Amino acid sequence: MPPVSGDLATSIQQGWTGFLDLVSKVVNPDWGALVALIPLLIAPLVALLLLAMLGRWTVFGLLKPRAKVRHVEGARAMERDGDGLLAPPVGAPFSLRTGLVYPFGTARTDDGEDLAVICPLCRVERFAQITTCGNCGLVLNVRRGIEIARPAGPPPGGAAIA
Ligand SMILES: [Zn+2]
Repeated sequence: MPPVSGDLATSIQQGWTGFLDLVSKVVNPDWGALVALIPLLIAPLVALLLLAMLGRWTVFGLLKPRAKVRHVEGARAMERDGDGLLAPPVGAPFSLRTGLVYPFGTARTDDGEDLAVICPLCRVERFAQITTCGNCGLVLNVRRGIEIARPAGPPPGGAAIA
């Protein structure tokens, strides 16, 4: 019996010593080893920072196409007819691709597509950059944004149609 208890005492002693050893390592840390660990602690922070930046870029990349389409200021969604089809406006530049109506004087979408415009007089469609209607000769020479500054009254050349 005594040998057993002695073994027990020894194992407890060893356990205790091991515990103390562990505690001393925690309480009295090896600073050199900790300093060596600093880059390991910084690395995840840097990685997080990079991820955050990457995330921002990704978000930016996702938003970019939308921003591209809506970059032209004052562009608004085109109305739809009873069948849900896009109903191009008369006399205002539009794009069936983007489904937007652009301010007067806009010739292209932000990504370079030529806009179309329907002549208010004869309803013939042409490129918005062409100010004179090739069919009836009506000149649509309205400067961009002017329709905002003109709350009342007919547009130039539009009195006869309105
Ligand atoms: Zn015309």
